[in-house]
Amino acid sequence: MQDNGNAATVMLGLDGFVLLAVSGEDGELEQAIETMAATDACRSCGVPARLHDRRPSWVRDLPSGGRPVILVWVKRVWRCMEALCSASTWTETSEVIRPRACLTERARAEACRRVGQDGHSVAQVAAAFGVGWGTVMSAVRHYGEPLVADPARTEGVAALGVDETAFLAANAAHHTIFATGVVDLWARRLLDVVPGRSGEVLSQWISAQDPDWRDGIAVAALDPFRGYASALRTSLPQAIRVLDAFHVVRLGFAAVDDVRRRVQQESTGHRGRRDDPLYAIRRVLRRGAEHLSEHAWTRLLAGLDAGDLDQQIGLTWIAAQDLRRIYASASRGEAEARLYSWFVHCADSGVPELRRLATTIDSWTSEFLAYFTTGGLSNGPTEAMNLLIKKIKRVGHGFRNFENYRLRLLLHCGVDWQTHQTTPLPARLPRLAA
Ligand SMILES: [Zn+2]
Repeated sequence: MQDNGNAATVMLGLDGFVLLAVSGEDGELEQAIETMAATDACRSCGVPARLHDRRPSWVRDLPSGGRPVILVWVKRVWRCMEALCSASTWTETSEVIRPRACLTERARAEACRRVGQDGHSVAQVAAAFGVGWGTVMSAVRHYGEPLVADPARTEGVAALGVDETAFLAANAAHHTIFATGVVDLWARRLLDVVPGRSGEVLSQWISAQDPDWRDGIAVAALDPFRGYASALRTSLPQAIRVLDAFHVVRLGFAAVDDVRRRVQQESTGHRGRRDDPLYAIRRVLRRGAEHLSEHAWTRLLAGLDAGDLDQQIGLTWIAAQDLRRIYASASRGEAEARLYSWFVHCADSGVPELRRLATTIDSWTSEFLAYFTTGGLSNGPTEAMNLLIKKIKRVGHGFRNFENYRLRLLLHCGVDWQTHQTTPLPARLPRLAA
């Protein structure tokens, strides 16, 4: 417990400083502070120094009681008393308020946390702290880069997920620019983001890791259509590759879309319009059968009755649903049996899109079936991460600088933030009264 003389300094809570005076104006607090260092000695000759002058320095701090705070640090200027010494005067310094800083170090750390953990924009945080964009961004770099570079962050990964993500959307000057995200699937943590989406980009990233780290990867989930598979095969030969369930299911529904568009075009001679029966059910066709309400079923069947005259869409829809249902298999054996009857269904359908899909899945059979021997490993966490990535991109209004983008993503999706655990409120006598 603190006595009353120290109360103001306890409120201030700034290491090595005491609070001298407070004034409130226009909803802001101005707090005058000084260091506890009432004596100093010359750095050059060691002779005790004499107080020469006081010089105020203004800096913003964390809000107090909801009010923005400006600290006025009344700095001591010291003078060496030794006539023969070359040092004349110097101003005191502190680790918690750096020279020429606009923010205290604790405010800079909090600015970094708000941008990183909370995912707020740099501009938002700058406005809240009453400083410029550059001040906050440099705090994010200063406190964020060591967190991201910490080798412990990427230690002990056993299951790797790889997926592409858009970095910059297409505009008049360039196509969409992609990046590759690498995820720890068990810890659900973003390990890194690298520019590009080729197998080569992934190979280079994996090669840059520690050999022990590489040996620890037992399984890897992938979207097979980006050259990631060959990169994993050569860079992590011991890892079991698993075709990502999410992408597989999406391929099935993409085939339904393709067939619907073709049938539509063939039967009406034009692309889908609002009053076309097939166009009207395009969204219902993409849903899992078990999620369809009675009303949705009625619409689906009526739409197919009216527009799917030779049942090509119906057959593809059944195939997409069956492909999805294979993932509910209890064992690899059961999945394999279902997969082979699915191949037969696709071949018998006579629908070209469906045959093409079956050929694709067939070429990935072992990666497809590996799902059932690796505890249902999927890129689900990677997909969840992609949602977070989209959120950060919205907040950042489209990043131009890849390093900033990477830092912001890793701070939001790849770092454990050690935040102070507060004590529960109820059922306790106040410490002051004890
Ligand atoms: Zn001196």
